[in-house]
Amino acid sequence: MAPTTAASPEASCLDASKLTYSYTTAPRDVPSEATIRSSDETVCTDHMIVASWTAREGWAAPELKPFGPFSLLPTASCLHYAHECFEGLKAYRGYDSKVRLFRPNRNARRLQMSAARIALPTVDDDALEKLMMAVLSVDCPKWLPQDRPGKFLYVRPTIIGTNSQLGIQSPTKALLYIIVGYMPRMDMPAGGKRLLTSPEDTVRSWVGGFGYAKVGANYGPSVNATRDAYNSGFHQILWLYGSQGECTEAGGSNFFVVWKRKDGRKELVTAPLDDRLILDGVTRRSCLELAKERLGDQVEVSERKFTIDELFEAAAENRIVESFAAGTAWFICPISLIHHRGREIAIPMGPDDTPGEITGNIKNWLGDIMYGRTEHEWGVVVPEKN
Ligand SMILES: *Cc1c(COP(=O)(O)O)cnc(C)c1O
Repeated sequence: MAPTTAASPEASCLDASKLTYSYTTAPRDVPSEATIRSSDETVCTDHMIVASWTAREGWAAPELKPFGPFSLLPTASCLHYAHECFEGLKAYRGYDSKVRLFRPNRNARRLQMSAARIALPTVDDDALEKLMMAVLSVDCPKWLPQDRPGKFLYVRPTIIGTNSQLGIQSPTKALLYIIVGYMPRMDMPAGGKRLLTSPEDTVRSWVGGFGYAKVGANYGPSVNATRDAYNSGFHQILWLYGSQGECTEAGGSNFFVVWKRKDGRKELVTAPLDDRLILDGVTRRSCLELAKERLGDQVEVSERKFTIDELFEAAAENRIVESFAAGTAWFICPISLIHHRGREIAIPMGPDDTPGEITGNIKNWLGDIMYGRTEHEWGVVVPEKN
């Protein structure tokens, strides 16, 4: 894999086999659940991976070292021009006491795509996967102990542009780092998730833009709308696009609806990837693949455009069966209500605040793979160092 268009031909690729280890001499205590929830800083594990890149030399040997601050000049390009992209995935402590990542090769490939979109150097996806495994091998035994099955850590690989030149250009220096920390479990809110459609004057993503890439520039600007929605009693924004109000994503999750089509057939529908408005979620892809494989005889599985008006029409004709949001952070979260400019759609869930049948099945199938209740090629075991 060529390091980047900006690099010289002799520049080195990222080589995970050159990883050096310098272990912390000041190991920290594992925080309690209460500390994790109340801390305004994400609590990270003892170690992180760091690798630096220059256009001339390519990637230096990656290092595993104690978690801690970086030193950057105030002119660094990530601090001015949003030269930043990232990934987010979880390491799950299984009921068989092994730790697994879920389809990490998908995240590794997506990081390449995101980096390429903003002229950052790409990293070989195989090397990235090995480096994620390396830091988890060292930190999981302590930070995700075997006696706590069902818990997870959050893994955040990041690439930033670090060249300190205020002229706008392709970064000539960059840093890859992989940190691991706690993220509170975001269970389904009581009564299901309530969505508010995006304000009329705001779009998250547009054709020709970068909404399909996990670049920091997509997220900061979405916070105002999300905060306002939250203050009005909603959990997340349902981002609409275009004059027809195409349904795209629900906050930082992909959006799914199960409904009956006019011909009576059940359909699981989500927005398509081809116009590059939405993030190609690993959870989204997995929901589609499992639904096709295991529900294909009862449910049509579609990636296509659908609008908020179609949702209202289906609701008026009692054709909406279920809806859910899918992503690493919220996992599979049932949606019970959509509010759009003064009108509401109430969406059925299962009895006693449980997910509907299809949502529940998909959630269980994925959870079983993540937590090792079923063996599946998507659940990749992390070899732990003792
Ligand atoms: C990360 C993300 C998702 C979910 O992707 P997963 O790979 O399933 O975690 C969906 N939408 C947006 C905008 C995201 O940033």
